[in-house]
Amino acid sequence: MIWEAIIDFVFPKTCVGCRVWGSFLCKDCEERLDFVEQICPMCGEGSPMGWTHSRCKSRYGMDGLIAIYEYQEPIARAVVDGIKYGFNRELMGMVMKNFIFETGFDFDFLVPVPLHFYRENWRGFNQAEELGKVIGSTLLVPVENVLARTKNTKQQALMKTREERQKNIENAFVVDRRPACRTGRFQVSDIRGKKILLVDDVFTSGADMRECTKMLKKAGAEVVWGLALAH
Ligand SMILES: [Zn+2]
Ligand SMILES: [Zn+2]
Repeated sequence: MIWEAIIDFVFPKTCVGCRVWGSFLCKDCEERLDFVEQICPMCGEGSPMGWTHSRCKSRYGMDGLIAIYEYQEPIARAVVDGIKYGFNRELMGMVMKNFIFETGFDFDFLVPVPLHFYRENWRGFNQAEELGKVIGSTLLVPVENVLARTKNTKQQALMKTREERQKNIENAFVVDRRPACRTGRFQVSDIRGKKILLVDDVFTSGADMRECTKMLKKAGAEVVWGLALAH
């Protein structure tokens, strides 16, 4: 307790949206945050509840996407960046407390999209993994780090076209053959027939999530949805 008081004194809490003191997200800014219109994760067009359009469904494709905020909206962006660049569990908790789950699925486990080393910040903070822990404890669903990065993909932001991004990300992920070493109980075979929720902070082009889904489905996953703070 005394340490929290000292930390609050040295690093006072200010709202990420308007800089007012007192909390990481003030009431006014929280009220101004709207839930975003949902999109199909395969084509990026609008779709009710984030279900993949039936015309966009494919064998190794995503089944749907839940996005909470619009990344272009300034307050939403400040919240997402606040989580991305700082070890801000409290802000994450505040964002998640209003989060309603509407897919109708009970997910078997969550998988964070593995972070590339150039995105991991100086504190070694992996926002997808941290987000996974918060969501997992909210939904009471276990988090399993079953995916790993395989190669140095170039920054997606440098890729101009959708095709270039897709090419860049191809085979960038693998199902980790030794996840049991880390969690002590999970086996790759446990993916078979499971309903999985992939977690990342932002769904931009969606290439990462689509590629992760492909690997999970090739390993036998039955259903893969994505969850992102913003798109
Ligand atoms: Zn504010
Ligand atoms: Zn679609």
